[in-house]
Amino acid sequence: MDTPYPVTRRRFFGGMASAASLLALRPAGLWSQQGQAPRRQNTLDEYDAFAKLSFNENNYGPPESVLKAMTQAFKYANRYGYPDGDIVQEIAKHHGVEPSNVLLGAGSGEILDVACTALLMDDRKVVGSEPSYNVLYSTATALKADQIKLPLLKDYRQDIPGLIRATRKNYRDVGFVYLCNPNNPTGNIVTRQEVAALLNAIPEDVPVLIDEAYHHYVEDPAYATSVPYVLEGRQVIIARTFSKISGLAGMRLGYAIAPRELLQRMRPHMTGTINAIVKWGGAAALKDTAAQAWVRTETLALRKKTSVALEGMGYPVIPSETNFVMVHLKRPVQPVIEEFRKKGVLVGRPFPPMLEHLRVSIGTPAEMDRFMVAFREILPRAAS
Ligand code: PLP
Repeated sequence: MDTPYPVTRRRFFGGMASAASLLALRPAGLWSQQGQAPRRQNTLDEYDAFAKLSFNENNYGPPESVLKAMTQAFKYANRYGYPDGDIVQEIAKHHGVEPSNVLLGAGSGEILDVACTALLMDDRKVVGSEPSYNVLYSTATALKADQIKLPLLKDYRQDIPGLIRATRKNYRDVGFVYLCNPNNPTGNIVTRQEVAALLNAIPEDVPVLIDEAYHHYVEDPAYATSVPYVLEGRQVIIARTFSKISGLAGMRLGYAIAPRELLQRMRPHMTGTINAIVKWGGAAALKDTAAQAWVRTETLALRKKTSVALEGMGYPVIPSETNFVMVHLKRPVQPVIEEFRKKGVLVGRPFPPMLEHLRVSIGTPAEMDRFMVAFREILPRAAS
């Protein structure tokens, strides 16, 4: 059994499926929303049949408690000023901050977008690593903002001394420093000491955006959330999402935790597109710690199993603290991605400059079996 919550899911998704057919939802929209060139249109059946290991989603989906809360919230579908499950207060309580330190976004993607819009005005630059979550850099590019992107170190870790030097050197022009922790696509962490070193070494008024999308999957005790820096009044914005551990990627909810003044700069740029259903879903997800623990345990066990299997075939895996792993194929990744697709397995896109690495999300046991079968068919044992 892939999920602990099979029964009511059917009821909920049954309702969603008929709503989708009423709206004549086409899967082509699913692709185009990612900003990619539309590929061949997949039918709904084809989409459903793929092992979807490309976007680091939570393939188990939201738990029973969250589905129930969202289903009940449909009664507010026709309202503007509806009860919202006290989502902002619940997030504030969860982190021990004030509601004024919380800003909701339609996914943490909106938080990153708005941070770029608000903080990169007036020819400001963003300082960060490459590769990292490149959607942020795409947004900066769209805003015509310069980016100072430092390569990763030989062991794929982020170059904290380099980030410090670049920030200090360009101090007057830096809009913010971007730290993805754990990093996507490499899956490794920046330690709490490194975060402290960075914050202590750069001018206090330079904001640091710390993207903790994969926080819930970290095991390494050297990692810690950076939320406490917000309580200290540091110019730190923490971005979190309900898309990963809570399985709500398609519903769009994320948030920022930051000092009130920083959020005041961001608020005017928000689109206000968060819906009633996901606000209730998010509030329920925060409370269902058992469901989160279940997803985490399953995912970490499968991450380990997959890494061991790949390493056993002679393909090095970057040790991951997330719900995905990056494996060194020792050959160009693009054709391999196409081969996986032909076999019904969607894997991550290329992440320049790491063009011989494949990123694969950790899905359900059945999906990971399909991935490993396809991997063995596509790739021979590597010479170690
Ligand atoms: N940040 C990182 C590091 C991500 O990997 C993602 C999505 O994959 C996001 C932010 C955006 O997630 P969402 O907008 O669904 O919250």
